[in-house]
Amino acid sequence: MDSKVKINDSMKRAFFLLIISAGLMLQSFAQKQGKNKIDSLFTVLKTSGPDTAKVNTLNNLAYEFRNNNPDTAIYFASEAKALGIKLNYKMGVADSYLFIAIVLNNHGKLEEALKNNNIALGLFDQLLTSEKTTSKSKIPNQKVKSYNNIGIIYSRQGNYPEALKNYQAALKISEETGNKNGIANSYNNSGIIHHYQGNYPEALKNYFAALRTWEEIGDKYNIANSYNNIAIIYERQENYPEALKNLYASLKIREELGDKKSIAASHNNIGTVYINQGNNPEALKNLSIGLKIAEEIGDKHLTAFSLNNIANILSDQGNYSEALKNYFASLRIFEEMHDEQNIAHSYYIIGRIYIKQNKNIEASHYLNKALLLAKDIGSSEDIENCYFNLVTLDSTQGNFKKALEHYKLFITTRDSMFNKENTKKITQQQMQFEFDKKQVADSLKFEKEKETGALKLQKQKAFTYTGFAGVALTLLFLFFIYRGFRKQKRSNHIIEQTNQELHKVNNELKETQAQLVQQEKLASLGALTAGIAHEIKNPLNFVNNFAELNNELIDELENSRDEEEKKVLFQTIKQNLSKINEHGKRADGIVKSMLEHSRSGTGEKQPTDINRLCDEYLNLAYHGMRANVKDFNCSMERHFAENLPKINVVQQDISRVLLNLINNAFYAIKDKPGATLTLTTLATAHSVIIKVKDNGTGIPGHLKQKIFEPFFTTKPTGTGTGLGLSLSFDIIKAHGGKIEVNSEEGKGTEFIITLPV
Ligand code: ADP
Repeated sequence: MDSKVKINDSMKRAFFLLIISAGLMLQSFAQKQGKNKIDSLFTVLKTSGPDTAKVNTLNNLAYEFRNNNPDTAIYFASEAKALGIKLNYKMGVADSYLFIAIVLNNHGKLEEALKNNNIALGLFDQLLTSEKTTSKSKIPNQKVKSYNNIGIIYSRQGNYPEALKNYQAALKISEETGNKNGIANSYNNSGIIHHYQGNYPEALKNYFAALRTWEEIGDKYNIANSYNNIAIIYERQENYPEALKNLYASLKIREELGDKKSIAASHNNIGTVYINQGNNPEALKNLSIGLKIAEEIGDKHLTAFSLNNIANILSDQGNYSEALKNYFASLRIFEEMHDEQNIAHSYYIIGRIYIKQNKNIEASHYLNKALLLAKDIGSSEDIENCYFNLVTLDSTQGNFKKALEHYKLFITTRDSMFNKENTKKITQQQMQFEFDKKQVADSLKFEKEKETGALKLQKQKAFTYTGFAGVALTLLFLFFIYRGFRKQKRSNHIIEQTNQELHKVNNELKETQAQLVQQEKLASLGALTAGIAHEIKNPLNFVNNFAELNNELIDELENSRDEEEKKVLFQTIKQNLSKINEHGKRADGIVKSMLEHSRSGTGEKQPTDINRLCDEYLNLAYHGMRANVKDFNCSMERHFAENLPKINVVQQDISRVLLNLINNAFYAIKDKPGATLTLTTLATAHSVIIKVKDNGTGIPGHLKQKIFEPFFTTKPTGTGTGLGLSLSFDIIKAHGGKIEVNSEEGKGTEFIITLPV
């Protein structure tokens, strides 16, 4: 959207020119086109469950509402953030922080915006370095948005070097990813900063670079904006013909596009340049067209600016009563919009007109009102203006004592403003000097070839400039030391706050992750129950059968007279007892491992026979599957290496991985004739390898990247959690190993785990 920036050295002139900053800000024009998008997002939202897709939809809604309806935007982004944190969906959480930051920035809450933005950036960086993030391609774009938004925040805080730094960062990423729109935005935004710093040649260079890039991609809306911004620089350099040429070029495109708001802005800017040229009739003509359109489309700010500019002409012409009417009309709009900066400024202008009309009571009333408000909002420029005019007013009323008091206050305010204004001017002049110097050098080269006489003159000019630049640089240097000190203190504070917040979010994410892991454990325990029941039932059957058998044998023993028979019976009973004991122990072991499986916290590493673990969990999983899926059957091949060394692992964790992989394999082959699962173990010099292979559905190429992502599942709701592989990945990584996948769609899949010995 158009950022309306007031450029006025109020003592001399108070015209409003409109600079367009592109990128993050939306125009109402584009927002109308976005209406359908919003409708369809709402439709999606209604039908979506509490999953990551919902987080994205909520975030998209926040982004769509970011300008026209900030409260709604913040609401959606906060909902997205809460759900994202609950789901441990970092990308969604990062997006929410970014969108909240954009809205806060557009509504002047700069420090809050910066905090949120830095958290977003931190999360994006974490996601970029995490091996598990799969949709990484989206991140550079989000980082560009982040840097641009941070740039705008710093620019609004008047911290231009930091703003530039961030735009440069955005530019770098855009160039790396070939994001032309991003490149153009960064140039444009950098241009605005150079403009604010008074570095007009550099501003022009950047605006032209933006223009060229937008021309390459044929973005007419922004081409028009570039012409507009270029024109404003020419206007600042008092090159009015060039300014007008560019403004008319911009207007022409805007008329083609039919975007009324920017057409009105063009007329306003054209009018302003005509004022500077002293061509009041043309100025009035354009300002009136701009005003009419602004009123027609109900754009309050633009209406107020146009009224103000028209009032300035009328006041210049000495038509104070008409000027006042327009000033009051624009004041009413500023009041409606609670635009305090401009309310204060309008009070001051009205006071000044009353002085010219010799209406001292009214003048004093408005100047004091302006002073009060300007002090309240800290607008030193208007405070200074008010004091200056109060001095005039007091003097004309013969109240010299008060005039002196006001004069002292005027001087104090002006002194405090000295640094701010002067730095700007010094920078402007210094830049102009650099620019002139270059021109001098160029012409010197040219002149040298022709005649040497002119050379002296140029040197003299350069000499004068050098002297001036010396003074300017000293002042600049002193100012930066002072400002740097204050800024450093403030930004340290912000960085500290941001770090704390980032820490908090990280902890929240960690906590939910721990909860999720526990949930997943319980879920897989559920899937195991059938297998466990089967496994326990077997030894229990043995125990019961042998106990019954022993009862019968003891009866026989009681009745037996034959010593030889008695001996055999004893022997058998003893053997049976040891079988009972053996199977009882087995049941005990199964219960223990079941308990271990669901226990939270980190287990101890212990030397483990991987073959045994594989065998056990293949059995458990198989019976579990058969209990859940009627008619499930498959052949299972075990290729276990005989020389497999025991390795140090957390048994419960590795068994969880095996269970996940085997269950996934069963799921993939469950409807396949000739379904086979092959479990292989191998030993190499430094590692133990486990391969879980199936001849099932396989994984489509484009999904291979995603399967390790938390919550990614292709299974129907209620069947899959999408956490199995993500957890497995973490577990194997924590053991210093790796997990790889080979898969061919329709043919089958093989997961290969490598664990260090
Ligand atoms: P879940 O099993 O709950 O879906 P996982 O993280 O274990 O979660 O698996 C994620 C996805 O990976 C599965 O939904 C499936 O699409 C795919 N997948 C995993 N293993 C296999 C396999 N052996 N064959 C085919 N697809 C698989």
